[in-house]
Amino acid sequence: MASDSKRSLKAEALILQHNDWGEADRMLRIFSREQGKLRVLAKGVRRIRSRKAGHLEPLTQVSLLLARGTGMWIITQVETVNAHLPIRAKLLLTGYACYLVELIDRFSVEEEENRPLYNLLIQSLERLESQADPFLVVRYFEVRLLDLLGYRPELIQCVVCREPVEAQNQFFSFLEGGVICPKCSSKPVDALPVSMAVLKYFRHLQRNPYSLVRMIQVPEPVREPFEQLLSRYIAFILERHVHSADFVRLIRSNKTKL
Ligand SMILES: [Zn+2]
Repeated sequence: MASDSKRSLKAEALILQHNDWGEADRMLRIFSREQGKLRVLAKGVRRIRSRKAGHLEPLTQVSLLLARGTGMWIITQVETVNAHLPIRAKLLLTGYACYLVELIDRFSVEEEENRPLYNLLIQSLERLESQADPFLVVRYFEVRLLDLLGYRPELIQCVVCREPVEAQNQFFSFLEGGVICPKCSSKPVDALPVSMAVLKYFRHLQRNPYSLVRMIQVPEPVREPFEQLLSRYIAFILERHVHSADFVRLIRSNKTKL
């Protein structure tokens, strides 16, 4: 991999997670603008006098200087760009932010750059801080995440017969990744009913920038079913994604043994 040959890296990143490592160190998972998800070692940060410690809490946006150690990156310098204090001050906002971070962590592959996804994450945290409707911020994040990772569901035409979707209640298939019209609803094994109102709102988020979708209040009857549809679809994709990521990892590890 190209990054193996690099000795140092300057990066901007969001801290996703950290775990204690050895006596005084911490192993962090970060999502960087430059190289996607990375595992980095922070040496000595659990010592009382460590000056780095305060910058390395989850949800902190940092500017980093990394040096290549044996098989991993080591933090040599760190500065806070944004500590996202308004999020930390409210338990509910912290919960939403942790959910976004968890999705990024679970969906992303190490050392795979995805700047639009990094920007989406940072913008979504800023939106949570700006007292926007957290429901909208999180749903918009989910819809764009699916786009950016290549899982955009088909909402314009039936995924079975390819006819345009008409303005009536429809079905949705996780397996087929999109809308199934009432005529075809008996075909896939997992066709779930979905109302036209939910579908319309889903399309609205898929098509428009945040600056536009924030102008319209989320219709009350749409909230719960839309959230459920999205979260179930994401859970379905994640399961497949995790399996395929495991598979890739298995192939990689076998290759290195050969
Ligand atoms: Zn159809």
